Amino acid sequence: MQRTSCVARWASYAGGRAPGESCSDEATTKLGDAWFCDHHYNRALDAARAALRREREADESFGWNYESRRWDADASESVYYVLRPADSLIKIGYSAHIRTRLTMLRWEHGELELLLTHRGERDTEHVMHKRFKDLRVVGEWFQPGKPLVAWILEARRHQSRMRPPGLLPGTVPLADLPKMLRVASRQSKRSRSPAETATKNVPTGEDQEP
Ligand SMILES: [Zn+2]
Repeated sequence: MQRTSCVARWASYAGGRAPGESCSDEATTKLGDAWFCDHHYNRALDAARAALRREREADESFGWNYESRRWDADASESVYYVLRPADSLIKIGYSAHIRTRLTMLRWEHGELELLLTHRGERDTEHVMHKRFKDLRVVGEWFQPGKPLVAWILEARRHQSRMRPPGLLPGTVPLADLPKMLRVASRQSKRSRSPAETATKNVPTGEDQEP
C-alpha cells in the first residue's frame, strides 16, 4: 500500500522544522478531504474544540441558548446595537461573526447589553450611522437619543411578530424598551443639543472589525 503523507505545514518552529515547511510525515488519519499525521490530526482537533468552546462561551455570555442558535443560521452579516451601561452610550456596529464580535467587545468595554441585531452589511451600518449622526458621540458610539431608541423599539417589535423569528434576539427584554424610549424622550426635550452633553464621557474610539 502506498504511503500517504501528512499535508500540514508547520506554522512555527517545532521539532526542527521551520514555519511553512511541509510536514510530509506518514499520514494516519483522514480529516475531511485531507490526510494528517498523528501530531497534526490532534492539533486540528484541539483547534476545532477551542473554536467550539469560544462559540459556546459567546452564547452563554449573551444569554443565548442552544435552541436560539438556529435564529441566526442565515444572519451571517449583522448590524448590532449594544448598550454600555457604564455611560449609557449605544454602539452601532457591523460584523460577519457577531457572536465572536460581541464577546470581544465585552472584553474591551466590560458589561454590554444587546439591544438589537438585524441583518445588514457594511453599507447598512453606514446608513444607520448617517441616520443617527446627530446623536453621535465618537466613532460608532451614540447617545441613547429618542430617534435611535425609537428605531430599536420599532425593529424589536417587528422581530417579535416574525414567525419563525428570523433574527437574533436582544438580551434586553422588549418590555424594557418603551421605558428607555420615555427616558430618551424626556432627555431630548430637556436638551436640544445632545452633542454638548456627549463630551462628558468619552469612550474609546471606533473599533475595527477583527
Ligand atoms: Zn503532520
